[in-house]
Parts: sequence; C-alpha cells; structure tokens
Amino acid sequence: MGEAAASTPTWIQLGYLVAAVCFILALKALSSPRTARVGNLIGAAGALLAVVLVFFVAPPRNLLAVLGAMVVGAAVGLFAARKVVMTAMPQLVASFNGVGGGAAALVALLEIGELGPGGGTLTRIAAAFTVLVGALSLSGSAVTVGKLQDLLPGRPIVVPRVQWVYGGALLVTVAAAVVAVVAGSPIFAIVLGVLALVLGVLLVLPVGGADVPIVISLLNACTGLAVAASGYLLGNTLLLVAGTLVGAAGSLLTRLMAQAMGRRVTTILFGALGGGTSTLGATDESTRPVKSAGAEDIAVLLGYARRVIIIPGYGLAVAQAQHALRELADTLTARGIEVIYAIHPVAGRMPGHMNVLLAEANVPYDQQVEMAQVNPEFRATDVALVVGANDVVNPAARKAYGSPIAGMPILNADEAKAVVFLKRSMRPGFAGIENELLYNPKTTLLFGDAKDSLTRLIAAVEAV
Ligand code: NDP
Repeated sequence: MGEAAASTPTWIQLGYLVAAVCFILALKALSSPRTARVGNLIGAAGALLAVVLVFFVAPPRNLLAVLGAMVVGAAVGLFAARKVVMTAMPQLVASFNGVGGGAAALVALLEIGELGPGGGTLTRIAAAFTVLVGALSLSGSAVTVGKLQDLLPGRPIVVPRVQWVYGGALLVTVAAAVVAVVAGSPIFAIVLGVLALVLGVLLVLPVGGADVPIVISLLNACTGLAVAASGYLLGNTLLLVAGTLVGAAGSLLTRLMAQAMGRRVTTILFGALGGGTSTLGATDESTRPVKSAGAEDIAVLLGYARRVIIIPGYGLAVAQAQHALRELADTLTARGIEVIYAIHPVAGRMPGHMNVLLAEANVPYDQQVEMAQVNPEFRATDVALVVGANDVVNPAARKAYGSPIAGMPILNADEAKAVVFLKRSMRPGFAGIENELLYNPKTTLLFGDAKDSLTRLIAAVEAV
C-alpha cells in the first residue's frame, strides 16, 4: 500500500484530496432536504473526478474492455435510475450497493492471484477481507431485492436446524479466509468468495420484510468497508477514504433507522437463532364498524379549523397525491388556517421518503416539522389529517410487548381534537396490525384513493 501510494504523482494525490472533500461535503449537504439536491451533484462531481484521475495512474491495459464496461454500466445505471418508481427506490439502492460489493470482491480476487504467496501478510488479510465482505454484501443485497420485489416471500425464512447451519457456515468461511491469507492462493480465495455468497443469503433470509430496509443500510456499510479494504490493497487512498465514509455513514443510518422503528440490529439479524423472528403481523382486513363520511362533511371540519396537522405516509406515495395534498394545504392556508406537515422518520418505505415526496410538490421546508418538534403541538390542533399513513400513528406502538411495532415512537395524532384518515379500505399498514385509532370516536374515515379523495376535498373546501 505504502509503495503504490507513494509512487502516485502529487497532482493526482491532490485530485484525490479534492474528490474526498467533495464526498464529505456531499454527505453534509445530504443531511437536509434543503441542500440534498446540491449534495448529490457535489458527490457525483467527486466520483467523476476520481474515475478520470484513475486513467492517469493505472497502466492502460485492456483499455477498450474497461471503456466498454463503463459505457454498459453507465447506461444500465442511468436507465434504472430514470425508470424506477419512487416506491421501488430501496430495491434500486440495494442493487447498486450489491454490485459495489461484488466489484470490490472481484478486484481482490484478481489481486490475490497477482500477489501470490509473496505478498505482505497485511495485504493478503485486506484481500481476503474484501472478498469475504464484498461477496456477502452482493448475495445479501440480492436477497433483499428479491424480498422487496416479491420475488421471494417477505416473511422470515428460517432453515431447519438454523443454529447448526449458521455456526457451520461461519466456521467454514473463517477457516477458508485463514487458508486464503496463509497460502495466498487464488483457488482458496475463490472458495472463500463462494462461501461468503452462501453466508450472505443465510444471513438475510430470516429477516422479515419490515426490517429489510435496515439490512440494506447495514449491507451498504459492509460494501463501504470492503471498498476501503480494496483501497488499501490497491494503494489507492481515495478508495480507502470513500469506502470508510460509506462504511461510517451506513453504520450511522442503520442505527438511526433501527432506533426510529424501535428495533435492535442484533435482533433483526440474529433473532432467528434464538427462535424468535422479526415477523410481521396478520394482514387481514378488519370488519369492525368505523365512522366514515363524505368529502363535504370532512371539508366542513377542515374549513372551520384553526390548525390542521397533515400526516403523510406510504399511501401518499402510492397514490402520487403530493401535488393534490399541497393544493389542499394551500386552499386551507388561504382561508387563514395554520397548516403543518408532520414528518415521521420512517413514514413511507425509505429514509427521507416523505421529504422527497413533498419536495417534488414544492412544499415549503418550514411547514415540514420533525416528530419531536410536532408532537407537543397535537393537543392544540383541531384536525390531524392522516393521508395514506397508518403504522406511524398507531397507538399500539406505545404498548411494551406483543406488537411488531412495540417501542416505535409515533406521531401523537390521537391527541388532536379530531382525526381524519384518507385510505382505501380497512387493510392494515406495513406492520400488518390493526390500528385502534381508526375506531376512536373522534376519528372519521374518508375511503378512496388518496389523490381522488384530496381532489374532492379541495372542491368541497372551496365550496364551504
Ligand atoms: P403504512 O404502511 O403503515 O400505511 C400505509 C397506508 O396507506 C395503509 O393504511 C394503506 O391503507 C394506505 N394506502 C395505500 N395506498 C393508498 C392509496 N392509493 N390511497 C390512499 N391510501 C393508501 O405506512 P406508514 O407510512 O404509516 O408507515 C411506514 C411503515 O413502513 C412503518 O411500519 C415503517 O416501520 C415501515 N418501514 C419504513 C421504512 C422507512 O425507511 N421509511 C423502511 C421499512 C419499513 P389502504 O390499503 O386501506 O389504502
């Protein structure tokens, strides 16, 4: 590592430094919806600079093949990113993350072949680590895509004699890693890669659908570490820095997501070993009676309110009703009503989902209020308008045990004077459990697709 890095010309090293600073600035800007777009561009500029610089340091072997692969990769990435619907974004992120891990593993496999038994011990350890973690991230990510895309069952899949299978697979993989390091042989490195692929599958199969996005974030951190190790292996400082940044950011995001959903990462990953799994509840539609009303009645409730808190959720994204929601909010604001959007950290299906959706409709940032700030406001609110959300307002989360969302902090919609739900049916949300708030005497339901309901509500409020 030291030699390769030292032989890199100073101007290239300076270029790497600029790219690394771009990545750090990008991460900083991505932490707020106001600056996220510009953050993304800064990060992309850093990545472009890094790719260009590599051509000046790497020997131009197989240049045509490299350029061909880059064109194919860029075309597939561009097509996938342009075509993906917002609700399928976690699958896309998982796919990109998986191929990143796979690429790092392949690079390390080739390097082990070139190093032979002569390479330094630390370098061989870095190579084996990259193969192990990169391959695990590839197959684990593939399973998460399968689960989210309904190609595999979303429920936890637990193999028979799970403790033995896990223990055995782990032991054999570690043994293969040790042999690969000691012998420095490409054959053992390939065996290690195959075993790591199996381990990745075994690790993710028992994870329940609700926890899959947390695992995607965790695998993202793993890919970061594999890339950092490959940077050490190749003597490329920028790969080392970028991989470490991804590893650190992914670990923090994993922790924050797990906290926001009231889960523990160890329970998510290893719950199956203790017999308990991260299951979802039943998904049956309830037949208990509820109070429902038409758009005209709800419009009266909204039109004479002083303050309305809007709670957007996954259904808003499904209905693509963000523009209609903004229009309703503008109509209410024009009547002198205070309107706030309450943002739950895990509303929707990916971190920041609601912020992205509302940004599309140009909802002002100062109207989007985080859970901790908005929760004390519900007591002094006339109507909590729940649009396509369910779990994030389900009081069952406050109970200590017995519910898949137990311990998850929720928005205190039940403290408002009146609650209105816009949803299509009595089907539960993602966690698959009944929501007592739907049966609360102060709750009224307006059934229908969120976009249709909002369009009818706008007309009805204007007529009030
Ligand atoms: P939920 O999944 O709890 O509820 C969504 C609601 O939207 C349902 O009640 C559904 O009812 C309704 N809905 C669906 N389509 C439409 C439509 N076209 N028009 C109107 N309503 C519709 O969503 P929440 O946002 O409240 O909660 C998010 C859940 O996802 C949490 O359990 C969270 O833990 C989980 N999660 C979040 C992640 C994240 O990072 N954000 C990651 C992984 C999981 P109906 O079918 O009757 O219309």
